[in-house]
Amino acid sequence: MRERILVTSALPYANGPLHVGHIAGAYLPADTYVRYNRLAGADIVYVGGTDEHGTAIEIKALKDGVTPKELVDFYYEDMKTDFKNLGISYDNFSRTSLPVHHKTSQDFFLKILKNGHIERKTVTQAFCPKCNMFLADRYVEGTCPACSAPDQKGNQCEVCGKVLEPIELVNPKCITCSTTPEVKETFQWFIRLSDFQDELEVWMKSNKHWRPNVVNFCLNWIKEGLQDRAITRDLQWGIKVPLEEGKDKVLYVWFEAVIGYVSSTKEWAERMGKPDAWKDYWLDGKIVHFIGKDNIPFHAIMWPAFLLGYGEYEGRKWKLPYDVPANEYLNIGGKKTSTSRNWAIWLGDFLKDFPPDYLRYYLTTVAPESRDSDFLWEDFQKRINDELNDIIGNFVHRSITFAYNNFDGKIPSLDKSLLDDDDKEAIKNMEEIGTKVSDLIKVFKMKDALKEVVSFAKSCNRYFDKKEPWKLVKTDKAKAANTIYISLELAKTLSMVLNPFLPFSTEKMLKEIGISKFVWDDSAKLLLEQGKSLGKPEPIFSKVPDEEIKRQVQKLDNPAPMKKTLVKKEEKPMIPFDEFAKLDIRTGKIISVDDHPKADKLYVMKIDVGEERTIVAGIKSYYKKEELIGKKIVAICNLEPATIRGVKSEAMLLAADDGKLVSLLEADKEMKTGAKIR
Ligand SMILES: [Zn+2]
Ligand SMILES: [Zn+2]
Repeated sequence: MRERILVTSALPYANGPLHVGHIAGAYLPADTYVRYNRLAGADIVYVGGTDEHGTAIEIKALKDGVTPKELVDFYYEDMKTDFKNLGISYDNFSRTSLPVHHKTSQDFFLKILKNGHIERKTVTQAFCPKCNMFLADRYVEGTCPACSAPDQKGNQCEVCGKVLEPIELVNPKCITCSTTPEVKETFQWFIRLSDFQDELEVWMKSNKHWRPNVVNFCLNWIKEGLQDRAITRDLQWGIKVPLEEGKDKVLYVWFEAVIGYVSSTKEWAERMGKPDAWKDYWLDGKIVHFIGKDNIPFHAIMWPAFLLGYGEYEGRKWKLPYDVPANEYLNIGGKKTSTSRNWAIWLGDFLKDFPPDYLRYYLTTVAPESRDSDFLWEDFQKRINDELNDIIGNFVHRSITFAYNNFDGKIPSLDKSLLDDDDKEAIKNMEEIGTKVSDLIKVFKMKDALKEVVSFAKSCNRYFDKKEPWKLVKTDKAKAANTIYISLELAKTLSMVLNPFLPFSTEKMLKEIGISKFVWDDSAKLLLEQGKSLGKPEPIFSKVPDEEIKRQVQKLDNPAPMKKTLVKKEEKPMIPFDEFAKLDIRTGKIISVDDHPKADKLYVMKIDVGEERTIVAGIKSYYKKEELIGKKIVAICNLEPATIRGVKSEAMLLAADDGKLVSLLEADKEMKTGAKIR
């Protein structure tokens, strides 16, 4: 039976561009793993998306002078493009602002609540008297109480990693106005993680195949005793708590973001036209979460706790993560990547200067799998020039070129009776490399897997050099043909086993050999068609010159200032008064409100604007039915009727929309219906 696997990569915050540190941690290794498994015939789905809620988003939007919605719309597109250009091959790249995610998260909340693992508690929270609001995590900055690092945010210390509550900070300040916050009483819902303490400990100890750094981190955390954690907050931007008493609160982003993997799988299933298919993976598959180490507690402790707390889904248990291959950090030039200090190599910039496979190659060779590692421009140059170009690219290119020039551009024939020991050894290496590489990819050792490929490529070059086909072709053409046939088979295998790492260039390499489709097992076979024409050989890689590296180092030391999020504002033309006067705008009253039979977010309402009209309005997420009935509203009454999902709408309500909230315009209660607005 085909192995059924669901792979996820951490959802990046949609509040800034991607940098190479992100890529090395959660995306490139996941993509390599997924590409290998697809070739090996697994039933595998790879999902991700942007994390679009939380104070990190609100604060960046505030700084850039855009709405949170504008910010996340911008970065969703930006990241999607970057991922695509790097060849990160998601089956679905979703967004946590989509209705499917809001619904799924609210379902998790209600289900865990019903099962008794969520409770309401009175809490004291940081409150800014000047801004007149409760200050959720990042709205407060101060000194870390554990390690005394200054200027830490109220959710987690960046220096020592301690997870914090804003009021724990020493010398706290409101980030908006620098006022020292007061401590005030309110209430929030908490998840009782302690309910899962024993079960999680037993499970964690059974995860013998996990990376030891992840297991040890979690066991230490569990040993300290799992604390109840707030899963709601007083914010506007986010997923509403689905309870009347919580209507001014949203689900805490740490609670809902991980649920985004389920939502993204649902969206994928819907798009594939098999809406229930997501269940096969979540209830009966192998789940693998690729993350950076800062995400370990959320994926390896809290997320499993939510899944346990949810209980059964349609009589089946949720699968706990099969593995959480967390990577350590990738530093840049010996220093930790810092977006705030603009010490980073931005993915978009990189891809303007180099082919994507150069980054994929280098980042795999320095993958921070078991300890922090370093991106060094000089090292990058050396790896690309000395390995990718001189060993891998060179072997493929010289084999094809030789055949092209000496065998009429065709694959020469193989005479098995003439095989000598060197030929046989080369074929044996070819038959074995696929398994060697896949055994390492399966246990997430991408760096070692790529090392195997490089040493295979070296052995291929040694074979070619030893056989000296340039001499042989003059003295013994049949033996030269054998050498070149075998070399082309080696080049084919090299391209195939490299494909999960370097999808763009290996596709070109295989095309020159005449292969467009293949499966992993083909890498172990002699399968080239003798006499078949080869594509015109072109060098696949080229060396990175010294000047280019100098330019990059300079750019890193003197980065261009961070740009603000630029949101294209629509040009709104001025209209003459006569045009405006044509609008028939009236006061009205809402008489009845019903759900739209075919759309989740729409109401069908009857309004009285001097006469009765039916209208369809997308305000269901903002108003309950009982809040609407009897409301004195304002409507445009002479727009052409529009049929919205099968229901004819005969007027349009006027409402304000700031990207977060939608608010209907109202007239005073005493105003009669049908009054003209001028
Ligand atoms: Zn303030
Ligand atoms: Zn600290």
